[in-house]
Amino acid sequence: MKITRVTSHVLQYDLERELGYSQQYYARRTAHLVEVQTDEGLTGWGECFGPGNVALANKAIVEKVIQPMIIGCDPVDRDAIWHNVYNLLRDHGQKGMPMQALSGVDIALWDLTGKIAGLPLCKLVGGRHRDRLPVYGYGMMLRREGVDAHVARFREEAAAIRDAGFVATKMKVGLGAANDIRLAEAVRLGVGDDFPFMVDANHCYMASDALYVGRALDELNAYWFEEPVAPEDLDGYRELRSKLKTNVSGGEAEFTRWGWRHLLEGRCLDIAQPEVCALGGVSEYLKVLSLAHAHFVPVVNHVWGSAIAVATNLHLLAAMPPVPGGLNPREPMLEFDTTDNRFRDELLVEPMNIQGQVQKSGGYASVPEGPGLGVEPDRDFIERYETVQ
Ligand code: CA
Repeated sequence: MKITRVTSHVLQYDLERELGYSQQYYARRTAHLVEVQTDEGLTGWGECFGPGNVALANKAIVEKVIQPMIIGCDPVDRDAIWHNVYNLLRDHGQKGMPMQALSGVDIALWDLTGKIAGLPLCKLVGGRHRDRLPVYGYGMMLRREGVDAHVARFREEAAAIRDAGFVATKMKVGLGAANDIRLAEAVRLGVGDDFPFMVDANHCYMASDALYVGRALDELNAYWFEEPVAPEDLDGYRELRSKLKTNVSGGEAEFTRWGWRHLLEGRCLDIAQPEVCALGGVSEYLKVLSLAHAHFVPVVNHVWGSAIAVATNLHLLAAMPPVPGGLNPREPMLEFDTTDNRFRDELLVEPMNIQGQVQKSGGYASVPEGPGLGVEPDRDFIERYETVQ
């Protein structure tokens, strides 16, 4: 079988309400799907991380740079393809957009390989350790409103996410260290004493401010403190990790085994959050997972994007071995964005309905059953939302 065509589909729609995190507000939802076609009629789907105009630039990398490198290759040779593309791109970007672009292509090759073998992705990468995943719901995004309005809304939203059945919740911060502590206190009040909550800073602090906020999170018994400092600040990560009781997590902005090596060897993280749609795809994710587990660092995948990204992560989380193992190991959770996302809820011919599954099962989502990713996007839906460029 030979690869005949690689196509990017960048989908966008205007959100009814802006969503904000510590770096910016965004008014449009974007998804970047990659479709790999073959001479035998089979098609694989993948997804690239990267919003807005980044997705448009990544589309050019997928179609104009990577496509010519892999036309005519056997899609099953995914590791050979990965290394060939990486070697050709190495001098032009070992992190960032070239890796995001390669990720979407690699995921599509794994989907194709699963379809060729008649096996779901979780079986291809080693088999299922579990059939369903506990799901945590993140929400509590920033808006252009005052601190008091944030405090009141975060308390309500946290309680609503708990009541929707999720096993834990995650909030944004970014209003300044002292205000952010008020937000975290509101979330603790909203969910009650026993429900786990996490705090995502999207690297908005210097280490000293992060330590100040982190000490308050210790008091509030937060589960993890995500991306407290800039991804380049490994010393800051190490310092926070040694001084805080709260778990320090991060890694969504890190790429490939070579980038992750420094985070892990540096003992920077209590919890690793690799993003499969950015760090290099499934092929590279498996290497990063092994590296994390070799350092006895638990992994909770970063998940963002469409139903393709969610399905990919459900398979990878199902196939993740427990570390260090035992009768009652700590289970990985699926990250789930509770804000408006048609690309996750309406993209598929048969939607996964994660929210419905969570509500019904008390917090769990099951792994798609079919070969490859086990999901099929609706072409009419793609056409409706595709940004013509
Ligand atoms: Ca995050």
